Amino acid sequence: MNATPIIGLEVHVQLLTRTKIFCGCPNRFNPDQPNTQTCPVCLGLPGALPVLNEEAFRLSLRTALALGCRIAPFTKWDRKQYYYPDLPKGYQISQYDLPFSHDGVVEIGGETEGDVPRRLRIRRAHLEEDAGKNLHDESGRGGDSRVDLNRAGTPLLEIVTEPDLGSAADARAFLEDLRLLLTDLEVSDCNMQEGSLRCDANVNVRLALDDGGTATTPIVEIKNLNTFSGVEAAIEHELARQIAEFQRTGRRFGDPGAEKETRGWSAERNETFAQRGKEEASDYRYFPDPDLAPVTVAAEEVARIQERLCEPPGARRRRFAGEHQLSEYDARVIVSQGRQFADYFEAVARACGDAKQAANFVTQDVLRELNARGLGIREFPLTSDVLGGLLARVAQGGITVKSAREIFGELLAAWSARAEAAEDGADVDVGELPGEAAIERIIAERGLAIVNDEGALEAALAAAIADSPRAVEDFRAGKQQAAGAIIGKVMKQVKGADPKRVRELLLKKLA
Ligand SMILES: [Zn+2]
Repeated sequence: MNATPIIGLEVHVQLLTRTKIFCGCPNRFNPDQPNTQTCPVCLGLPGALPVLNEEAFRLSLRTALALGCRIAPFTKWDRKQYYYPDLPKGYQISQYDLPFSHDGVVEIGGETEGDVPRRLRIRRAHLEEDAGKNLHDESGRGGDSRVDLNRAGTPLLEIVTEPDLGSAADARAFLEDLRLLLTDLEVSDCNMQEGSLRCDANVNVRLALDDGGTATTPIVEIKNLNTFSGVEAAIEHELARQIAEFQRTGRRFGDPGAEKETRGWSAERNETFAQRGKEEASDYRYFPDPDLAPVTVAAEEVARIQERLCEPPGARRRRFAGEHQLSEYDARVIVSQGRQFADYFEAVARACGDAKQAANFVTQDVLRELNARGLGIREFPLTSDVLGGLLARVAQGGITVKSAREIFGELLAAWSARAEAAEDGADVDVGELPGEAAIERIIAERGLAIVNDEGALEAALAAAIADSPRAVEDFRAGKQQAAGAIIGKVMKQVKGADPKRVRELLLKKLA
């Protein structure tokens, strides 16, 4: 049976504002001190009045524009009524019929040979407040349930896609890029363990039947997925389950008793499981919140934000592959490290004129040092100009790649030694970063400059050949590795000789 998955996501993103969305309480994850970040507004006490946090609205605009959404010139706030212990007001302030943005589009895939890019439409993005958190005793000894309202009133951006995703892998790819985009835009820390990025997946399947007809299975909403692997595995499982269920019962979308179902995901058991029935919008009795003024958005404000948006991760990977001729792998590694890292790579590539060499260094050497030292690229002691200058010497034939690696290590070691000395109280300036002068000094001290004096090379080569009759004989007899001994002698004689050039000359001589 031919099955076409129909998948849409609802993503919730906690925004990185200083304070909560409708009050001045600090907005930070603080589960160790429950109920310390609350006030009459976020506790929902009678008479307390909410005031919109402009920063939350600005961050939301930035995100919606980056997702290609249209911005509504007029938007208002609605009360979504339901009772739950973590929602003391008895309603959540959200946006119902007039969200601040709608109708965006992003592109997925198309980065490997033969992979056709897919369009994913964004239905809407709206702003709302997060609820608190219920804490249940899970020891099985029947302890108390508690409520922590620190999270109540955290600004939450909900991004709803159309059901355009055709596979679990695409759903994951979209979410991974969304996380990169949101962190690049500095709108969220997207810490999935702490719940600042989480998503629900709406999943069903269109089946081509043997009799030539089609059938669509009932829609299932899988709630609260908070890992990338969980999103992919839950959708995979759900697709297979729905097909098996259809074969067993023949139930289709729209049949009586086949309403939209809500399921949870258990990573331990690797399966989705039934939860409560899904409420319809009418159950929430939405109505406009009389305490909050509607928001009008000026076109100039939108244009100003649009102007300063950064390039989305997918577009940047495609550009790196085209403009810089990077492999799909290198482009992916570089962009996945975030905007600043990718900017660093581009600056190095420009400064040295060899993007491939720049990609090798940043994906291997720079990344290794950052991980080992626990640094971000902004704290890395070698600026893009300095690394670019070092690699330019390689590109222009001044030093070998091996020497560049040696100098790279030496510059970092010297910087670390200075930093450690400063920590021990010595009077040194750690602010001074390694520069051009240090590179020149190391090249001179170690004799790393490639000697292009062909006369000196020829003379040393002639002497080495005369001095190694045995190696010459072996080489002529077909032992390639015998050349090593002769090249070694030349290298010893002419400090800074380029081994590649010496080998070329040797092959010519013995040919
Ligand atoms: Zn508050």
